[in-house]
Amino acid sequence: MNIHEYQAKQIFAQYGVPTPRGMVANTPDEAVKAAHELGGNIWVVKAQIHAGGRGLGGGVKLAKSIEEVKELAGEILGMTLVTHQTGPEGKLVQKVYIEEGADIKDELYLSVVLDRAQEMPIIMASTEGGMDIETVAEKTPEKIIKVTIDPSIGFQGFHGRELVFGLGITDKNEQRKMIDFASKLYKVYMDKDAEMIEINPLIKTGAGDFIALDGKMGFDDSALGRHPELEDMRDISEEDPDEREASQYGLSYIALDGEIGCMVNGAGLAMGTMDTINYMGGTPANFLDVGGSANAETVAKGFEIILKNPNVKAIFVNIFGGIVRCDRIANGILEATKLVDVHVPVIVRLDGTNAPEAAEILKNANIANVIAATDLADGAAKAVAAAKGEL
Ligand code: ADP
Ligand code: MG
Repeated sequence: MNIHEYQAKQIFAQYGVPTPRGMVANTPDEAVKAAHELGGNIWVVKAQIHAGGRGLGGGVKLAKSIEEVKELAGEILGMTLVTHQTGPEGKLVQKVYIEEGADIKDELYLSVVLDRAQEMPIIMASTEGGMDIETVAEKTPEKIIKVTIDPSIGFQGFHGRELVFGLGITDKNEQRKMIDFASKLYKVYMDKDAEMIEINPLIKTGAGDFIALDGKMGFDDSALGRHPELEDMRDISEEDPDEREASQYGLSYIALDGEIGCMVNGAGLAMGTMDTINYMGGTPANFLDVGGSANAETVAKGFEIILKNPNVKAIFVNIFGGIVRCDRIANGILEATKLVDVHVPVIVRLDGTNAPEAAEILKNANIANVIAATDLADGAAKAVAAAKGEL
């Protein structure tokens, strides 16, 4: 789950990570009220969407008067903002964040992410903040510092020194402030079960202070159960509606852009199924793991979600009966075809516990659209042929 910039900054503030003062607004009038309350004479109006690159897309604008705050909030609210992270369809802006204008001397980059290869969190930092960090990583990777933190010892003094020396910070006061900043951010990361926190830019002000000018946070969905305060920050209008519906039924669903809908149990088998479809010359339309407790209802829901995608030309059901018995799944498929109008060929490969019984059930039911497969390769080949209209 991801949250908005203004929410990330609320969390930062709770941990003493410095952020500019700001207030969220849903209408131009609320934006005016926020600007009055914040005071000062320069404000920044920032679109709140779950995507970066807002500045380049016209979603972050500077206002030098209250009238201008109102005008810009009016322009940005309701616009469909297109950035390099939203895809060409863009995202509708429903909230803006009104923030005091900051005195920017330097723009740095700082993030805490999980390094899956090392199985530990790392702090990444760069003096080249503010711009596209992916380009920095690609063209001048030496400008990105990585400090690995073993969670069993936590953030220590030597991590801080590695960071500030790497960033070329020589002033003692600034070193102390940056180390303090990074150690607090690490604490946020661990406490909140975050998957990533990214601050780009982290600015140094004219007065030599470090402030989080932007904030992006993503959390481990599996840990949300112990963070009711984060569940409250969820903005479902930012999430893929099909993926959300699937998760309500305990299905893990990720939409892709191919033609063959996949219904599989277990993430490993789902990945293997997608690979095999590709190998046979087809393209998967989705990743779908129906989990260990697949039944008629979840199978029907799976069909329904897969069939919402107009690109789907065939469905490949590839289920291994371990705990779940194949005859139950076969009955589930029959039930599901009654509940949902399945208008594309469904290739079914069931193996494992009670597979012969399952084959018998499907054979006896004799449903025109349902085609049995003997193994993974046979199933994938049939699904690819069916998607091409050759079956
Ligand atoms: P995004 O990364 O989505 O483009 P940012 O929050 O990083 O959005 O804002 C883009 C740029 O706008 C920043 O790099 C910074 O130069 C400027 N900016 C953002 N917030 C402020 C602020 N409060 N004061 C001054 N400039 C700002
Ligand atoms: Mg940014």
